[in-house]
Amino acid sequence: MAEPPNDADERRAVPPVICYPTETLPSPNMVIYDAARAQLMTTTRAVVPPREAATVVVPAGHFMRIHSVEGPQVGDLNLFNASNLAERFYSGKTRALHGTHVSTGDRLWSCFPYLRPMATVTHDTLDWYGIDAYGGSVHDVIGTRCDPYTGRLLSGEDYHHCCHSNLTRALAAHTGQELSDAEQHVHDVLNVFMCTGFTRDTGQYFMKASPVRPGDYFEVFAEIDLLAVLSACPGGDCSAEHSSDAAACYPLEMEVLRPADGTLADWAPPLVNQYDQSHGT
Ligand SMILES: [Zn+2]
Repeated sequence: MAEPPNDADERRAVPPVICYPTETLPSPNMVIYDAARAQLMTTTRAVVPPREAATVVVPAGHFMRIHSVEGPQVGDLNLFNASNLAERFYSGKTRALHGTHVSTGDRLWSCFPYLRPMATVTHDTLDWYGIDAYGGSVHDVIGTRCDPYTGRLLSGEDYHHCCHSNLTRALAAHTGQELSDAEQHVHDVLNVFMCTGFTRDTGQYFMKASPVRPGDYFEVFAEIDLLAVLSACPGGDCSAEHSSDAAACYPLEMEVLRPADGTLADWAPPLVNQYDQSHGT
């Protein structure tokens, strides 16, 4: 280990600054969403079987709820522009803008060069959880997704019902693409209902039993036409392990809801990012 400099303590004592102060981030007008969500009609329901994934299309201006049913279960969510798979959820930038975990009022951003809100979180029955004594919280954008490659690396075994594979199969079935093509579009997820953090002493990614219970739901408003792909993680409530058939797993349900006519008169879908893409040339 390197010899600490004489002023090591002084350097460590420098207070942090927030990378992206949210005062400059255009904030969503929650009054509009609250008015729209006051009267909703269900248009679609999709059950996500345990250790599988399912898809729904959520038209812009509709809401989507992810419901806990039957038992505590974590979901790995991918979001796409329904008419352009190249525009997909960007968990890293969402984390940079909103923090490690998202809840009501936060937005789910798309990748470059689009970088616009794909969805806004409009209700979260687990918002009471906050940040626990371990630094854990719910609905993270710090994990990636359980996948068979890391499983192979760590255990030497092949497991086919990781979220990565579940998302790949469901996207291939929806689009008609080959598995190998669909796999290229699968990306780092929003870990819905998952309770995670980083250990204070070693900085390692940890998970713990999700506080979610049947009846809980996480609701987003679709700012653009969305294709949502959700995997019911083989980790179940992620209290012990994932990437195996060991954990108790339950289904999840996706519900698409349409607001009453006229309630979104003051809302407009966001434009793609207006940077000119000349990159200084
Ligand atoms: Zn998973």
